[in-house]
Amino acid sequence: MPGLPRSESLLERARKVIPGGVNSPVRAFAAVDGDPPFMRRGSGAWIEDVDGNRYLDLVGSWGPLILGHAHPDIIDEVVTVMRDGTSFGCPTEAEVLFAEELCAAHPAVEQVRLCSSGTEATMHAIRLARGATGRDVVIKLDGCYHGAHDAVLVAAGSGVATFARPGSPGIPAAVAALTRTAPFNDLAAVERILDEVDVACVILEAVPGNMGCIVPADGYLDGLAAACRDHGTLLIVDEVMTGFRVARGGACERYGIDADLVCLGKIVGGGLPLAAFGGRREIMQHLSPAGPVYQAGTLSGNPVAVAAGRATLRRLTPDVYARLEAIGQRLEAGLAPTLTELRLSMNRVGSMFTIFFRPEAPTCFAEVQDCDMEAFGHFHRAALDRGVYLPPSQYEAVFLPAILTDTELDALVEALEAALRDSVRGR
Ligand SMILES: *Cc1c(COP(=O)(O)O)cnc(C)c1O
Repeated sequence: MPGLPRSESLLERARKVIPGGVNSPVRAFAAVDGDPPFMRRGSGAWIEDVDGNRYLDLVGSWGPLILGHAHPDIIDEVVTVMRDGTSFGCPTEAEVLFAEELCAAHPAVEQVRLCSSGTEATMHAIRLARGATGRDVVIKLDGCYHGAHDAVLVAAGSGVATFARPGSPGIPAAVAALTRTAPFNDLAAVERILDEVDVACVILEAVPGNMGCIVPADGYLDGLAAACRDHGTLLIVDEVMTGFRVARGGACERYGIDADLVCLGKIVGGGLPLAAFGGRREIMQHLSPAGPVYQAGTLSGNPVAVAAGRATLRRLTPDVYARLEAIGQRLEAGLAPTLTELRLSMNRVGSMFTIFFRPEAPTCFAEVQDCDMEAFGHFHRAALDRGVYLPPSQYEAVFLPAILTDTELDALVEALEAALRDSVRGR
């Protein structure tokens, strides 16, 4: 491995000028006790690091790259738009067309506002819910992730208390105390809080992917929507990960959820910084300048990100979702005997899945925490050695790109089986 020292020195240099060497913590590989490779290019399902090693990429920039890296037609469209200017800070035709497309694609979206990251989308959706209801309290479910802002970067309260604790130094306890938490898949826990206090909104990932992939129990999402309706509480479905992933219309389409507001990100920006929040017109009309709830962004709706989003969404046809479902099924069927034999489990919804290092597939955050994290670390390293780039944490979902060929998929199943055997041997 003659090139290896190069990336090692890059990591050292990075740590001198960037805290921890990375611009987002999970990239540091801390949870798998390793050093991250530095990537220099991607093409289709493959990425290449600075030492020339190639990996089948099952992270896809944490979800956006559903059509793989550097799709030539998408790149062409983006470059063409860029030649006419990268940002105006003025209304453009393309953002109107894009908003129309989002309203048509997502069952819960009648109006939509663009922003630049998923964090912004959920932050603004929560402010909007608070502003529209005149209430302050938010319910968040343990293990769901909604970006890195104060209202949602919280940890579950201890014991029976449902008051959240700050998830990070710097978040005032008084702010965290306005967020109440409940376990995922536990409807009664949410109903108890709704009965006790006036709640502005419940925010959740309908198919959580940020505690590993978790499947909503039958009736759970409908029950949440009904409980919210009964209490005058808004239901915010955070579809930053699931939007255009588990179906074109996201989890709301797949599970028929009646959401008041939804957040979009990742795929919707086609790999560029773009996110959105939208929902019922009467609620969205509270947003400035139509209404009094303030929200803004200098680069919101910029033509480059909008072009990438539009070019991506145009290619997400019913055939693509049929293909994503088929490759997901084929992967699951391929791995099932090995998982059973090794007493491991898997959750999958369409093309997102997680292999869990515990015999029973988890249904909530507490059960995910019960996994053998050390064995997961072995598995991650063994997969990387076999050229498969997986998210470096048990608490993350794996994404299959739609462009994966059957040959690549079969090789992937083989590589994962071998890595699983290694990891169990290693523990
Ligand atoms: C990634 C993610 C976010 C945060 O999006 P950023 O663009 O990283 O700020 C919010 N919610 C969910 C469900 C996500 O998966």
